[in-house]
Amino acid sequence: MLKYFQKRQSDSPGFFYAIQMDVEGHLANCFWVDARSRIAYKNFGDVVLFDPTYLTNKYKMSFVPFTGVNNHHQSILFGCSLLWDETEETFQWLLHTWQEAMFGISPRTIITDQDAAITNAVAKVFPNSAHHFCMWHIEKKIPEYLSHVFHAFDDFKNKFSKCLHCTTTPEEFEIAWIDIMKMYNLEEHIWLRKIYTIREKWIPAYVRTTFCAGMSTTQRSESMNKYFKDYLNSSTPMSVFVTQYDKVVDARYDKVREKDYKTKHSKAILKTLYPTEDEAAKIYTRKIFQKFQEELIQSQKFISEKIEVQDGIHIYKVHLFQRETPTYIVRLNLELKNATCSCHKFEFMGILCRHVLMIVIKKQIHSLPPCYLLDRWTRYATTEKANDISSAGSLAYNLKSSTIWFNNIMTHSLGLSERATRSEKHYKFTYQKLLQLSKELDELPYEDNDNVCDDQVNESNNDLNSSEQREKFSLLDPPCVATKGRPRSLRMKSGLESSQKVKRSSSLKSKRETKIRKKGKGVR
Ligand SMILES: [Zn+2]
Repeated sequence: MLKYFQKRQSDSPGFFYAIQMDVEGHLANCFWVDARSRIAYKNFGDVVLFDPTYLTNKYKMSFVPFTGVNNHHQSILFGCSLLWDETEETFQWLLHTWQEAMFGISPRTIITDQDAAITNAVAKVFPNSAHHFCMWHIEKKIPEYLSHVFHAFDDFKNKFSKCLHCTTTPEEFEIAWIDIMKMYNLEEHIWLRKIYTIREKWIPAYVRTTFCAGMSTTQRSESMNKYFKDYLNSSTPMSVFVTQYDKVVDARYDKVREKDYKTKHSKAILKTLYPTEDEAAKIYTRKIFQKFQEELIQSQKFISEKIEVQDGIHIYKVHLFQRETPTYIVRLNLELKNATCSCHKFEFMGILCRHVLMIVIKKQIHSLPPCYLLDRWTRYATTEKANDISSAGSLAYNLKSSTIWFNNIMTHSLGLSERATRSEKHYKFTYQKLLQLSKELDELPYEDNDNVCDDQVNESNNDLNSSEQREKFSLLDPPCVATKGRPRSLRMKSGLESSQKVKRSSSLKSKRETKIRKKGKGVR
């Protein structure tokens, strides 16, 4: 497996990996990510779902993919990990390592399972990111904890579900929750009290004010798990596991290319006469346009009443024709052309809701203000931005360090590689241009005042590239766990033991580990 990682890094300089091992030299935890996923993170790393799954290999290690969503609303991977235990210490190592691989950029929102070890690790590594819990994980426990209420009252399930999903503001949720607790005598229920105290991290009425790219449950992650199951199973040997993972990544990128092609070469069918629809069709990817179009069509079913004007802000009550509830409050600033809605769809998903669209159309605003067209949902989301290039370029230029110059050019080359492999035509075009560029670079004369730097790639990396160093290091497969499955008690016990081993390993073999981790840094 280590050989595989080393080969991948030698073939693709943007490949990143990191390994922790126990005292005997067995693999304990590892993380790896390919160059394409790192580039994708730069464009779509605003929301990340981090979900340890129980799709384990024969060594009973947890498989932990990092997933996000691209401009076609497809699940994409931002690297993955195999963990031998699930302690806070391990999760901290993993999240720090992952952040390092992702150019040090923290996600805006991180969605995880409701787990104490993960929660503490996220708070320490990503203190400024919004942290939400997967609603799916919490909801699946409801029948277990509330089976007695389910059996006693036929209407409970429906009412409880409405309270969780259909309340749009924290105030509405609080009223509905208190009513249900009283109605079914659940005020002292321990589990309900517990999930109520963390309501701001999982109840839609609270989390919808944070951008989540529309990801609120683990359905997305679950579908990714199903995808992996076609390639991986519990008897997959470790060495095959990582190569199979590559096949999953390749297959995902084929799907992305399909959607890119469809967006570029097909024409959207317009269903209304509103100019905003035509405008959106030209900017959004096909999938996001469909979502926007649905909001636009649905907006025609709503009516509004102006409540008042406060400091130039027009406030409206918006509801379905002949139905007073639910009612949404839209605030529109005509001068600045901005609007907010109590449903918070834009804040949560990044697409204007039907309620705002209804008002905007009524006011004859026929062009969407740019602030409502999030770049990450457009067909241009993966285009390298001129300001990114110029800021990074000027930084690299001013620092006069050949290592920084090298890394800057390499980072842009990775982005170029991704775009150059969208089709055979793109590939051949780029290849020819690169040959030409390469020739011109070789012919470019040095000027007398050129500052030639001598701060070459740092010594430790050079050491690590030597074959001598590679030969000195060997990594054993993780020890197999004899029992099938991992009961919680056993897992926790193993976790404690392994974390101690890893800790001891860190001091005993810190030199080795440092070397491996440095080697895994790749290009930044
Ligand atoms: Zn709305």
